[in-house]
Parts: sequence; C-alpha cells; structure tokens
Amino acid sequence: MASIRHKALELVQSRTRVPVVPPANKISDYYGTSCFGLEQMKESLAPSVFKKVSQAIETGGKIDASTADEVAAAVKTWAISKGCTHYTHWFQPLTGSTAEKHDSFFDAHAGIEKFKGTALVQQEPDASSFPNGGIRSTFEARGYTAWDPTSPIFIFDSTLCIPTVFVSFTGEALDFKTPLLKALDAVDKAATEVIKNNFDRNVKRVTASLGIEQEYFVIDRALYAARPDLVMGGRTVFGHNPARGQQLEDHYFGSIPSRVKDFMKEFEVECLKLGIPVSTRHNEVAPGQFEVAPLFEEINKATDHNLLLMDVMDKVAEKHNLKVLFHEKPFSGLNGSGKHNNWSLITDTGVNLFQPSSSAKENLQFLTFFVCTIKAVHDYADLLRASIASAGNDFRLGANEAPPAIISTFIGSTLSAVLDELEKNGNVKVEKGDNMYMKLGISKIPEIILDNTDRNRTSPFAFTGNKFEFRAVGSHANSAGPMTALNLIVADVLQEFNKAVNAEVKKGTERKLAIVNVLRKYIKDSKNIRFEGDGYSEEWEKEAAKRGLSNRKNTPDALDIYTDKRILELFDKHKVLNHIEVEARHEIMLENYILKVQIESRVMGDLALNHIIPTAVAYQNKLIENANGLKGLGLDAKSVIETIQEISKHIDQIKVNVDAMVAARRKLNLEQDSVKRAKGYFKDVKDKYFEKIRYSVDKLELLVDDEYWPLVKYREMLFLK
Ligand code: ADP
Ligand code: MG
Repeated sequence: MASIRHKALELVQSRTRVPVVPPANKISDYYGTSCFGLEQMKESLAPSVFKKVSQAIETGGKIDASTADEVAAAVKTWAISKGCTHYTHWFQPLTGSTAEKHDSFFDAHAGIEKFKGTALVQQEPDASSFPNGGIRSTFEARGYTAWDPTSPIFIFDSTLCIPTVFVSFTGEALDFKTPLLKALDAVDKAATEVIKNNFDRNVKRVTASLGIEQEYFVIDRALYAARPDLVMGGRTVFGHNPARGQQLEDHYFGSIPSRVKDFMKEFEVECLKLGIPVSTRHNEVAPGQFEVAPLFEEINKATDHNLLLMDVMDKVAEKHNLKVLFHEKPFSGLNGSGKHNNWSLITDTGVNLFQPSSSAKENLQFLTFFVCTIKAVHDYADLLRASIASAGNDFRLGANEAPPAIISTFIGSTLSAVLDELEKNGNVKVEKGDNMYMKLGISKIPEIILDNTDRNRTSPFAFTGNKFEFRAVGSHANSAGPMTALNLIVADVLQEFNKAVNAEVKKGTERKLAIVNVLRKYIKDSKNIRFEGDGYSEEWEKEAAKRGLSNRKNTPDALDIYTDKRILELFDKHKVLNHIEVEARHEIMLENYILKVQIESRVMGDLALNHIIPTAVAYQNKLIENANGLKGLGLDAKSVIETIQEISKHIDQIKVNVDAMVAARRKLNLEQDSVKRAKGYFKDVKDKYFEKIRYSVDKLELLVDDEYWPLVKYREMLFLK
C-alpha cells in the first residue's frame, strides 16, 4: 500500500493551475467594494448623520443611539445587496488570531431582515473559551464586543464583519485592539503637545502609521496534510535539509512559481476589494518563501488589514490547493519569516515627522522625534523585546538568525554623524543673534536616500530613510502587540521631553536651545542602543553584553518584564493597561507558550515513536536479511552491518530521549506557578530534547530507504512548480 507521503506526492504531480479572472481590468473599478468605510457612509447616509459619524470617528467621541440605528440600516441594506445573510462582530482575542460569532439578519418571528443600531454597536460573544488570564473568573463571567468605527466594516466569506474591541463587563481589555487604540491616543496627545509647544501651533493631531511587510511560505496542500507536525504546530519538527537549500540565494527576487503567482493574483484581488492596499509581491530568500506588502495606513487599520489579509490568504490558498505557512520558522536551516513593521508619525498637516528636511527648523523637529524614538527604544528595550516574544519567534530571535534577540537600533552613518556632532558640540556657546542651527551643525541633514540607510538588514529596529522598521516582529504575530508597546514608549519619552524642555525654558533658556540641550542629553543617554554592525555576529553578542544590553533568548525570560514595577506604571500612567490587565496578559502569554511547546513536544514524541522508529526497524530488518544472505553466500557483510549498527544507535537515542522528554513534561505539568512551568518547558523540554531528537531522526532520514520514509521531505515541499 502506498504511504500517505507517496499518495500526496502523486496528487502534487496531477495539479493544474487555477485560472484567475479579476472582476475588472482596472483595480479602481473594484477597490474597496467589499468594505463600508467613510466613503461608503458618505454615499449612503443623510449628510447630518454622516457628519455625526465622521466627527465621532475623528475625535473618538460617542455615537448616539439614533445615529447608530441609521448607520446600521444603511450597512444592512448594503450587506444584503452584496449577498450577506449574517453579520458578526470581528475581534482579536489574545490567542493571536481573530474570532467571530455569526448572527442572522433574518428575524423569523417578524419574517423580515433586521439590524438595529444596538446590534451594530454591541454584541455578547460566548466568551468563556477565550483566554482572559483569570480576569473574568475574579470579576465577571462575561465579556462583550463593541464597534470600533475607526476601522471599516467589511464583507468576508459572505458575512458582514464589524471590527470591534473585546472587553469584560467590568471594563478590562480582553483583546489586542483595546490597548492599541489607547496607545495610539497616548502618542497622538504627546506628539501633538511637543509640536504645538515647540514647532507648529497649527497641528491638531498626529497619526501613527504602519506598513506591514508579511513574509510567508507556501507549500502544496496535500504535502501539508501529510505532515502531522505542520498540521498540529505549524512547524516541521523533523526534516533533513535539502541538497539545495538557500546556499545560492538565487531564489531572492527570482521568478515566482506559476501556481503561487495565480494564488497571489487572486488573494490580491480579494484584498483590494476589501480596501487593503496591497502593492508589492516578491520571492524571499528561502525556497518556497514569499512576501506581500500593502501601502502603509493608520496603525489601527493597518493591523486589522494585516489580520484580514492573513485570513484571505488562507482561504484563497485552499482554492489553489496550497497552504500558507505563517509560522516564524516552519523549516529548520532555512530563513525564518517575519512581519516587518514600518512605522512613522504623520501630522494632520501632512508632515512625516521622520522625514529629514532641508529646512533647519523642520530638521530640529525631525531630530526631536528621531532622538526621542531612539531614547524610547533604549529605555524600554526589554518591553519591545517582550512585545514580540512567542514560541514561534524564539526560533528566529534566539538562534543566530535575523534578527537577534538583542534590541538595538541602526540609523546609518549619516545620521550617526549628525547625532555624534550634536553630542560633541555640547560646549558650543550660542550667543544672541547667532544662527544656532549652523553653529550646532544641524542646519542641514543631507537628503537621505533609502539606499543609504537600508544596507543593514540585521538590525531589529532600523531607521530606513523616513520611517523606522521594526523587523523583529514574528510573521504570525498580531502587530497590535508590538505597536502598542512602541507607541506607548514613544509617547512616554515625548511627554518627558516636553516637561524637560518646558523646565529649561522656565529657567530662562531660549526654547530652541532648550530643545537642543535636552536632545543632547538623550543622545548621550541612549548611545548604547545604537549599533551599526552585523547584528547576527558573535562579536555583537559579546559587545552587547559589555554594553549591558539584555539578551533574552526565550519567551518566558522575555516576559518577566511584565512584572517589573516600572513597566506596570508606564502602562498605567498612559491608561493603556492597568496592573491587573498586564498581569492577565502575562499569564495568557505564558500559557500560550507552554501550550505551543507542549504540542510540539507531543507531536515530536508521537511521530518519533509511531512513524520513525517502526520505519527504521522495518528497514533494518531488511538489512539484517541482506546481511544474513551475504554471509550465506560467504560474502563480506561489513558495510551492511555498519548501517544496521548506525540505525540501532539512532533508534536507541530517539527512544531514550523521547522517554526522558515525556517524563520531564509530566513533572512540569504538576508545577502550579506558570512562570516556573513556562521556564521549565523551555529549559527541561525544548532546550534539552528537541534538537537531540531531531538530530537522530534527521540522520535516519539519510540512512533509511527513501521508499520507506513516512514523512514528506523538505525537497519535496519546498520546490513548487
Ligand atoms: P523595503 O525596502 O523594506 O521593502 P518599502 O519602501 O518597500 O521598504 O516599504 C515597505 C513598507 O513600508 C510598505 O508597506 C510601505 O508602504 C511602508 N512605508 C513607507 N513609508 C512609510 C511611512 N512613512 N510610515 C509607515 N510605513 C511606511
Ligand atoms: Mg523592509
């Protein structure tokens, strides 16, 4: 009987392309047709109602009941005209994916379709199964979802989806979106204050924007289904490297396999309909790896769109008999996948605060935001590190791969020189009537060409010309987590900056000079976090240790920061999360980690004992037969016997290690303290056994007859036609 592997391989041979026909030749003809944002509201609402809604969105104000009813009626008409029978509140529980509970528009008693404002604004999902870190058991048994009108309503899979926050009845945040919205509010307030006080009275608002580059792998669906480890944990726990891996790096920007190209085309069409501004597609470094990037948007929208994009990709892939892998490290020995978060701050007057300018005054503004961000990364590196921690991302950050677990920032030689100069000129006296900008060497910052700053691809947090790029975010993550942290810490430093400048001005220092004095201090204070060299190198690890930077290589260690008083106060001070909420989140993230490692460990044990060892034994028996046969003929069976011995050795190793790993798990499961349990799962399960078991299994893959091998091999998965 053919094995599942062979059946799957046969299926792959028979695959044909799935043609894709876009709904129109011009994208502008279908862009946004599946979403109901401000534009659609304007078209379908009475002007007075639209004014109320758009104002509420702009100011974050409340939408009254009658306005909500009007919006609901318009949305209902629109959705039904598009073939929707159901609606759902779409939210982001702390499990990392999205959740929904569908309700019908149809009211069987009345015999008509109904959708009231109250149903638009609020819904009670059956929330008992979403993680809450103990909040709900202590406070209130239920949670509810509430409409976030700042993110457009959309249609997915014939269902009307309403983006919402998810909170407990006592008001604690149970999702990713709630704290993000608060952090965005905090950075808006702090940044606007800074600008109004120091640079431009006309600015009323600062919006944080985000462009997400999403990396992913694609494999054939049948091959995916034939790998229990991929199905259960998203990652191959075994598999020898193919003869041709990424040594040649010839894959990068090479041609995209036609089946993948069809898939890309189709998911792009679906995204564009949803108003997700996807724009670039290309191959990545590893075989089978690709990337998609939309144009940047306001952060709340960008994170929602990224989550939606992942769902769309998942669904469209099915149609093309493909499977998208969003795991951070699906294949050992090949490049991992990240989600580069390109971030900047933009005023309502249209100024990108990270865009160096040829005007001296604007440059001081640029330097203010630039230096405050670096200071924030310096002061709160551990929080940034924790914000991207996950079991999957540990395979990138903890290993010598892109990017390292050490948080540092790369700004390029031009800006390094500017900051060094500013710091050095500390003693320059600026007299009345002097051109201060000139005297301090900040009159002109040469136009920074992207190429100039983006050479270093090893930095976890790089300045790339007019934005910062947080590259350490994992491909599977909800960007809301890291973006909450980043905007919060920048808000905090900006607020402190404001205070410090005002204090100097009060003492009689001229404002411009006061700004420079504070910046100079910040540059000095945060110098350690700047690093321009190779972030993957061992030298950097040593150097970083010398500088006193932390290097938390695994998730449980990284998460310790959530018990730090300073961090709890930071969240509290800006009203992003209270102590209980942070504590609950810490708990949930530890549980997530434990669960992931536990699943992988179980899959590993099962595959090793039920698939690998029996296969190896069967093949070994063949060899024994062969050896006996050779001996019977009076021939030398030395090399066969050697292979038999080698196979035996690996089988023994696997058995011993799997047994010990299972025992370690049993012991840990008795541990009540989740911090200790998570750290134990790292140290006594993952770190101690995963590599060892894998080593033996991968050796067996090379020894056992290919015909017998039960698991789809790397070379079979990675090179799609
Ligand atoms: P890369 O060279 O890293 O591929 P790109 O210039 O292609 O960089 O941009 C990557 C992402 O950064 C895109 O999503 C783009 O829209 C986004 N981006 C560009 N400018 C900004 C900005 N000012 N703020 C936030 N994101 C931005
Ligand atoms: Mg990039």
